[in-house]
Amino acid sequence: MIAAGIDIGGTKIEVQGFATNWTLSARHRVPTPQDYDALVTAIADQARWMDAEAGHPLPIGIGAAGLVDPRTGLAITANLSATGRPLPRDVAAALGRPITWLNDCRAMALSEAVFGAGQGHRCVVSLILGTGVGGGIAFDSTLLPGPLGVGGEFGHFAAPAHLVQEYALPVRQCGCGRMGCFETYVAGPGLSRLAKTVTGQDWTPEAIGASRGTDSGAAQVWDIWCKLTAELLHTLTLVVDPDIVVLAGGLTHIPDLVPDLERYLDKALVLGKPAPRLALAQGGDSSGARGAAFAAYRESVDD
Ligand SMILES: [Zn+2]
Repeated sequence: MIAAGIDIGGTKIEVQGFATNWTLSARHRVPTPQDYDALVTAIADQARWMDAEAGHPLPIGIGAAGLVDPRTGLAITANLSATGRPLPRDVAAALGRPITWLNDCRAMALSEAVFGAGQGHRCVVSLILGTGVGGGIAFDSTLLPGPLGVGGEFGHFAAPAHLVQEYALPVRQCGCGRMGCFETYVAGPGLSRLAKTVTGQDWTPEAIGASRGTDSGAAQVWDIWCKLTAELLHTLTLVVDPDIVVLAGGLTHIPDLVPDLERYLDKALVLGKPAPRLALAQGGDSSGARGAAFAAYRESVDD
């Protein structure tokens, strides 16, 4: 084995070990503790478990939801009991060696750029459409770094006023504290809220996806969602002009998402230019851990 990646979610912590050719060699999953000290111990124990499998200490990359302020080292996270705590520093101390820490969306973006749907492209944007909206930008198989660590928080762009006004959409407070972020409309819960606003009924994202060809209410909700998401893709195109946008997250299980969004993006794009290619992520659930492991491996080689 050459590196390990740890994916930390609200319910499970999974470590994956990778062979020289980056195939998965071993994996081990434990529940995510709710207590902070137990969380730190559990993450360090997962790294040690994989070290024992490998027979030597591995470069450890960790992908976790939320942000770490690079100036203070303190975490801000909605689904781990670690907000205001120096989680990466404490894990490294518990393990007794440095680790590489990434936001989980950035870990997935790196993995897709290097191993997945973005392979062979220079500028790869990943957009994750799940319970939240996030992503990352990789250029030449390297994540664009930044002093605040927020590059890729695409869900917190402001939604376009013309669509909010046209469809009389409520402007809600986002989990980030700001008003009217894209995430409040185009994440999974946002899609269900759009449906409630438009049809007055409760719809799951899956039901909207499945019924959009047969139910006029679902079709209208889907039309608005595609317009909003195409605007987000349009903004990303104007900012970084990617070769390809890789889509991931729960909403990408909706059939024919890619051709639908391509049509809407073509209509949204300025300058009469062709839209960037859209593709579904290839790495599945294991993508984030592999991206984190790759980042750690590369840091270890660079040192
Ligand atoms: Zn927000």
